[in-house]
Amino acid sequence: MGAQPILVDDGKLHDFVIEIFLAAGSSQREAGLIARHLVDSNLRGHDSHGVGSIPIYIRNLRAGELLINQTLTTMLETDTFAILDGNEGFGQVMAHDAMNIGIAKAQQKGVALVGLRNSHHVGRVGHWAEQCAEAGLVSIHFVNVVSDPSVAPFGGVSARVGTNPFSVGIPRDDQRPVVLDFATSKLAVGKVRVAMNQGKPLPPGALLTAQGEPTTDPSVLFGVPKGILLPFGDHKGWGLSLACELLGAALTGGRTQSGPKRRNNTINSMLSIIISPERLGTADTLSRETEQFIGWVRSGDNSPVLLPGDLEATTTIDRKAHGVPIDQKSWSDIITAAEAVGVAPPADIAWQAA
Ligand code: NAD
Repeated sequence: MGAQPILVDDGKLHDFVIEIFLAAGSSQREAGLIARHLVDSNLRGHDSHGVGSIPIYIRNLRAGELLINQTLTTMLETDTFAILDGNEGFGQVMAHDAMNIGIAKAQQKGVALVGLRNSHHVGRVGHWAEQCAEAGLVSIHFVNVVSDPSVAPFGGVSARVGTNPFSVGIPRDDQRPVVLDFATSKLAVGKVRVAMNQGKPLPPGALLTAQGEPTTDPSVLFGVPKGILLPFGDHKGWGLSLACELLGAALTGGRTQSGPKRRNNTINSMLSIIISPERLGTADTLSRETEQFIGWVRSGDNSPVLLPGDLEATTTIDRKAHGVPIDQKSWSDIITAAEAVGVAPPADIAWQAA
C-alpha cells in the first residue's frame, strides 16, 4: 500500500456515503444528511470529521450504540427555547433538526436557546453555526463529549474530559460568515487518528503518554493504556472546556463525563444560543461594524490575516476543483466498513495519486 493519498471527487464520495448508510438501514433523508455533513467536513479540510468517521459509525451501529432513524424527542418547549433529546441517533440529523427548531424561534422572537442532549456525535460543530448563519443568524455552541475521556484538565495528567468543542457563527452581508470552530484540546482526537493513519508525528506539546511524558507519536492516544491530550491555551482552554461540559450537558439535562468509558460510542450534548440581529434591531450596525473591524485588523500587516472560516472556504474551493485527499489507511477502513453492510466501492471513484 503506497503512502500517497487518493483523490476523490466530492460528488462521487457523497453518493458513495449515501449508499453505505442506506445499506446500513438509514432512511434516504438520514443518509443524505450524514453524507452532506461528512463530505462537507472533508471539503473544509476537517478530515477528522469527514468520511473517516464512517468505520466508527458503522461499528457503533452494529453494536447498538448508535441508533438508526431516530427523531428528536421534545422534552420542553416554549416560544424561545427547546430542550430536545437526540435518543442516541445520528448527530448529523439530530443537530440539523434542532438547529431548524432554533432558527424558526430566533426568527420569530429574536433569540432562541436550544439544548440538544444525548445525541450521537454531532460531527463538525461549525456545520451547525453555518446552518444558522445561512439563515442570517448569529449562533454560539457549547458541546460536551461523553466517550473515553481523552483530555487532562490544566494542571492534571489524568484524562478527565473529552475534546469539548466550541463554535461561534456570525453572518456577513454578501460574504461568507465568520465561523470559529475548534476543540478545546490542542488537537481533536480525529486529527490524531488522521496523523496516525498518515504516519505523521504530532506537533510537540499536544499529547502525553499514559505515564505523563510528552510525546509526538499519535498512536499513543490509541494504545493501552492510552495517552492524554492537553487543553489548548493552558488554563483558558481548560476553562472553556469546563464551560462546554456544564453548559452543553449539565444545563441541557444531558450527561457529563464522569468515570471511565462505559461504551464505545461518542455522545454529544450541545447548548446553542441563536440570535437574530434583525429582530434585535442591530443588523445594520453588525454589518457595518463587522466590515469596518475586519478592514482594520487586516490593515496592519503585509502578511494576510485570516478570519475564522477563511481556511475552510479556500480549502473547499481547492478540494472541489482537485478532489478530496484521503489517506490509504483511512480509505481501506472505509471500504471495509462499506463491505460490512454489503456495499462495494465504485470502481471509478479515485481520480489519481496526489
Ligand atoms: P482547528 O485547530 O483546525 O481550528 C479551527 C478553527 O480555527 C476554525 O475556526 C478555523 O477557521 C480557525 N483557523 C485555523 N487557522 C487559522 C488562522 N491561521 N487564522 C485564523 N483562524 C484560523 O480545529 P480543531 O480543534 O482541530 O477542530 C476540528 C473540528 O473538530 C471542528 O470542526 C470541531 O467542531 C470538531 N470537533 C468535534 C467534536 C465532537 O465531539 N463533535 C469534538 C472535537 C472537535
